[in-house]
Amino acid sequence: MITANARAVFGPTDSFQTIAIERRDLGPKDILIEIKYAGICHSDIHSARNEWGQARYPMVPGHEIAGIVTAVGSEVGNFAIGDRAGIGCLVDSCRECGHCHDDEEQYCKGAVYTYGGMGKDGKITQGGYSTHIVVTEDFALHIPESIGLDVAAPLLCAGITTYSPLRHWNVGPGKKVAVVGLGGLGHMAVKFAHAMGAEVTVLSHSMKKKDDGMLFGADHYYATSEAETFGNLAGTFDFILNTVSAKIDLDAYLSLLDVNGTMVNVGAPSDALSISVFSLIMQRKSFAGSLIGGIRETQEMLDFCAEHGIAPEIEIISADSIDEAFERVLRSDVRYRFVIDAGTISEA
Ligand code: NAP
Ligand code: ZN
Ligand code: ZN
Repeated sequence: MITANARAVFGPTDSFQTIAIERRDLGPKDILIEIKYAGICHSDIHSARNEWGQARYPMVPGHEIAGIVTAVGSEVGNFAIGDRAGIGCLVDSCRECGHCHDDEEQYCKGAVYTYGGMGKDGKITQGGYSTHIVVTEDFALHIPESIGLDVAAPLLCAGITTYSPLRHWNVGPGKKVAVVGLGGLGHMAVKFAHAMGAEVTVLSHSMKKKDDGMLFGADHYYATSEAETFGNLAGTFDFILNTVSAKIDLDAYLSLLDVNGTMVNVGAPSDALSISVFSLIMQRKSFAGSLIGGIRETQEMLDFCAEHGIAPEIEIISADSIDEAFERVLRSDVRYRFVIDAGTISEA
């Protein structure tokens, strides 16, 4: 077994503590990654606080992982010692179903999540707020040389979660796109939609981040707290991506879609959201969801970022500041992703 130091919570209201965790010995297709950086996704907060009701403790969150390969199994062909490697939300899948064959492992019933999942060895998986991780090479990503490891980390969830639906719904030139919520996911969505050639509008609950939104590539920016916003923008958009972590009034946002428009939810609040069917029926509108993205598409997204010079805006924090960072995310006081420097995780 390989011992790693990690930051874990033992219950939904606990603060983070340093613990030692075991990583499996390398199988023939496994690689060992020395983690350099791990992003803090809002899903880590939902999970650590058991808001989705599936928590397993102790829990080491983290599914935005970037580091360096320090050992490889005997049959590894795609990675070598010294390579830059990333891990996102998945560390394995059944490999046999239609979704796996279609490179959409995120929709496989046997998908193994990076933390809080059941590994194929029968052990609960532990995530990236740690110093080392072992993963099969098939679920590791190559991080292009031009992307720093610190900014690469958030791409592994915030990046792919926004890139995938923009691609699936063919966002590009001539399309009017709105991004709801300018947080970790939202700011990546603005950068991607702009790079894909769409006309991009940010719908944030305040005007506080307007300058940033425009800098990220938005063409327009409105505050949803201002009464006239919904009236003025009625029937405007072809596509709306909702990245908000809390409950919102879906009918109000659906009214902003043009005929045949689609609103896709990637935000994952625990509270149920409701829709009046008339919000969809009257103008043949669609409401959909989307979950991260498969490994092939995640690599495509990383290469797209390298090609277009796209990177998230980050604030690097030390491992003893995770509790404070969680609170700041909850106050929408993040610009725009916290990234943990794994080198600051002390010995357990
Ligand atoms: P984040 O950085 O906290 O951003 C969420 C943004 O939502 C905030 O910056 C804020 O933007 C807005 N917001 C927050 N509370 C709000 C409220 N009460 N009313 C209106 N707007 C509010 O979070 P994130 O990491 O981007 O994650 C966003 C959501 O996506 C989370 O629920 C997360 O679990 C989920 N997620 C889903 C997937 C997937 O595969 N579907 C993957 C990753 C994450 P403004 O200040 O601009 O309004
Ligand atoms: Zn995430
Ligand atoms: Zn499968």
